[in-house]
Amino acid sequence: MTTQVKHYIDGEFVTGSGDKVIAVTNPANNETIAEINCATVAEVESAIASAKTAFETWKEVPVSERARVMLRYQHLLKEHHDEIATILAQETGKTFEDAKGDVWRGIEVAEHACNVASLLMGETVENVARSIDTYSYTQPLGVCAGITPFNFPAMIPLWMFPLAIACGNTFILKPSEQDPMTPLRLIELFEEAGAPKGTVQLVHGDKTAVDVILGHEDVKAISFVGSVGVGQYIYKTGTDNLKRVQAFAGAKNHCVIMPDANKQQVINNLVGASVGAAGQRCMAISVAVFVGEAKAWIPEIKEALANVKPGVWDDENAAYGPVISPAAKARVLKLIAQGKAEGAECLLDGSDFTVPGYESGNWVGPTLFDKVTTEMSIYQEEIFGPVLCCMETDSLEDAIELVNNSPYGNGTSIFTASGAAARKYQHQVEVGQVGINVPIPVPLPFFSFTGWKGSFYGDQHAYGKQAVRFYTETKTITARWFESDIATGPNMTIALK
Ligand code: NAD
Repeated sequence: MTTQVKHYIDGEFVTGSGDKVIAVTNPANNETIAEINCATVAEVESAIASAKTAFETWKEVPVSERARVMLRYQHLLKEHHDEIATILAQETGKTFEDAKGDVWRGIEVAEHACNVASLLMGETVENVARSIDTYSYTQPLGVCAGITPFNFPAMIPLWMFPLAIACGNTFILKPSEQDPMTPLRLIELFEEAGAPKGTVQLVHGDKTAVDVILGHEDVKAISFVGSVGVGQYIYKTGTDNLKRVQAFAGAKNHCVIMPDANKQQVINNLVGASVGAAGQRCMAISVAVFVGEAKAWIPEIKEALANVKPGVWDDENAAYGPVISPAAKARVLKLIAQGKAEGAECLLDGSDFTVPGYESGNWVGPTLFDKVTTEMSIYQEEIFGPVLCCMETDSLEDAIELVNNSPYGNGTSIFTASGAAARKYQHQVEVGQVGINVPIPVPLPFFSFTGWKGSFYGDQHAYGKQAVRFYTETKTITARWFESDIATGPNMTIALK
């Protein structure tokens, strides 16, 4: 019998009652490993109602007690790290090492949520006028929701619910329907960590579930991560319904290579950052911009990419796994064909790649294009596959102009030995996360994940101080106390009551 992936509604793990069933498959052979019954409108509404009720008590729980739940949670996540990574690898096809990385980057955010008391500290000014002080508190919003993509089923949910709940909110998680088993395990462990009933709810499904969240008056804030079209829809609909929304969307990330860079570092880093995780990272490097003579390294990059061998998740020699679905593979192959038809030079073509014994899997081999121009589909669209596009410019200034003309602004990097070139690039580039000799500059949780332009809709970003601002409201108090009211008399205790 196929495993039914449970929802978690009002403190109970339940199989959905909806008629719509979605299969969860192993991307290496497309066999069904589990199923979800998509949540019905009534099920999502009952999750929201339960979260609303839970908020009334959870918001009054002292912050140190809330932090203790997070401390137990991060400990449990570490204890179950490999087990979660195994579930994740099986349903995403990621290699075990990569799956562990996905879980670990999420654990780091859960660790950061343990520090919530300091993060919530407000501001104080004494004597703003005679005997008057002004101070501010940060208070939770109420029911918040998260809608997450398939490509990081541990890290991205963990960007959201631990910190939102630590801040005193309750939370509805609607993860990707393509890999729901990892988020379910995250929620089971959250319950085990002692999160009170109703603080977190898990609803599986697709647009139907999302639309209930978007339209429900009791949902105060929505965090979304996913593709551009859906991100724009969620941002527009959510804000139209007067909700606070942060929407992280697709990307096209450029790596600028200066001729003075360390060649071997460039080759090693470009290979990993472009085809690692089968290119299914929103921070993957999909465009390499060679400045001047650096273009002479392209044949060696081709050679290095040709040696990269994809494989199944538990093959220790596999560099990356299959893409998530047959539809994703068809899309990548269509773009590769378009690239050739539009005149790019295909130096390495992974369209016909397969892994022996797993012929029905969604494999795409490493693919390299040269002579790519900005008019081509492979430049304009996010391919989300193991494909690297090479471009050339004469100068750093031209490279900066190229990158700044892209509608996206998630991440970028520069490889150079020159501090001056790096300084110019970091200052002038219109991208929210910049790496200097670091290919994928994803900040740790004490900073925030700060994508720009078409890669992000909203104001406050994910995790760090910005996420605390996103999940809270500031209350500013102006108080006057009259000295003449001071009572006198003994106070015999040191306890705070
Ligand atoms: P997706 O947009 O298809 O799905 C994301 C979520 O939205 C899922 O939970 C899905 O069920 C839901 N959804 C899908 N279609 C919907 C619709 N029409 N209406 C309402 N909800 C809908 O994205 P994906 O394919 O799962 O993830 C890959 C995308 O996510 C890539 O574009 C990638 O760049 C992006 N991404 C961005 C970041 C970032 O931080 N900027 C991080 C990770 C992934």
